[in-house]
Amino acid sequence: MILSVRGLAFKGYLANPESVRQAKYPCPQCGRRLSWHDRFLRGVRFGGGQASITQFRLRCRPCGLTFTLQPDFLRPRQRYLAGVQEHAVERYLTSPDSFLWESTS
Ligand SMILES: [Zn+2]
Repeated sequence: MILSVRGLAFKGYLANPESVRQAKYPCPQCGRRLSWHDRFLRGVRFGGGQASITQFRLRCRPCGLTFTLQPDFLRPRQRYLAGVQEHAVERYLTSPDSFLWESTS
């Protein structure tokens, strides 16, 4: 399951992902405090680059559920930052012809 964490800036998180560990997260199911479980690296792409960021997993022992902390600049199963996707959609909607320059034809 995913726990969305709001208000994190991409560059700040990239420089110090451990900052999310300062907060206490309650289990959405039972309200008890979640314990730290695991971490993993995830590849993300952004305007002109890519990086590996650390994501953390938490666990509620009584419920037996595991949660992934998902900064709100990421979306589940998406490689690009949310802001990059939003900008591309907005650009396409306001000026669809501007996407033609990326075509190889
Ligand atoms: Zn629980």
